Amino acid sequence: ILGTGVGGGIVINKQLLSGPNAICGEWGHNPLPWINTKDKPGRTCYCGKQDCIETFLSGPGFASSYSGQSAEPNTFLSSEQIWQAARQGDTLASEHCDLYIEQLAKALSSVINILDPACIVLGGGLSNIDEIYEKTAARLGNYVFSDSVNTPIKKAKYGDSSGVRGAAWL
Ligand SMILES: [Zn+2]
Repeated sequence: ILGTGVGGGIVINKQLLSGPNAICGEWGHNPLPWINTKDKPGRTCYCGKQDCIETFLSGPGFASSYSGQSAEPNTFLSSEQIWQAARQGDTLASEHCDLYIEQLAKALSSVINILDPACIVLGGGLSNIDEIYEKTAARLGNYVFSDSVNTPIKKAKYGDSSGVRGAAWL
């Protein structure tokens, strides 16, 4: 889930894994892997740690780090507006979206290195951004410990309503 927060679940043979701490798949509060100065580290997460994946890949994380570098600091664009600006050729927005793809590729690669799932399904508001699928998949090879990466990244069947559907099922 790439939404207000970043979370996840792991399903094997149609069974949701839970684990003794009921946090199975909770990748959003691991630190962003392969972090460097371009990522502008030093972000404090509400969980008390620093540079959690969620502080980079959530909608609020993505949008707030953009407004922090905008020429007009009082301008706060939504994630969708930033992607729209990038599509229209805005250089700053394009760089910010490119950084997002890179960070998403790094974060998903660490999941693949541990779990090597048959498929990764993205949900949440940012999963509506069509550009992220192919572009992120193309960069996994820079980080995954394998000569070739065959992991499909797919959009959730029910879009950003998939999480609430899952909750209703439970
Ligand atoms: Zn955190």
